[in-house]
Amino acid sequence: MHEKDIFCKIVEKEIPTDFIMEEENWVAFKDIRPSAPVHVLIVPKRHIAYLEDAKDSDRELLGELLLAVHKVAEKLGLAEGGYRIAINQKEDGGQIVPHLHLHLLGGKKF
Ligand code: AMP
Repeated sequence: MHEKDIFCKIVEKEIPTDFIMEEENWVAFKDIRPSAPVHVLIVPKRHIAYLEDAKDSDRELLGELLLAVHKVAEKLGLAEGGYRIAINQKEDGGQIVPHLHLHLLGGKKF
């Protein structure tokens, strides 16, 4: 068992958080320190710390997360104009929370 990270606690609703969307395998919520007018995190419910921990059996989940970003972007009105996706990995990538997540950034021209 890994020590519970903050996103596990959010997923398990131990830390109350408003979800923009929730599906069987993922949740989406606003980043607490936004770095764009729209900054949403898409987080798999299952704990995977880093991409390197993903297995072949996680293919479907990884694909679902990309589709999830687009679903959230559509819901927030970003789909037409476009948006940016970021996945930070480990220390040099600027990853602070060791639980795989996708940043959806939008609402401005990058
Ligand atoms: P990363 O640097 O890729 O690990 O991104 C982690 C992100 O999680 C940062 O942008 C933080 O602002 C965000 N964050 C940390 N704690 C919370 C929280 N409780 N609710 C929402 N966002 C959070």
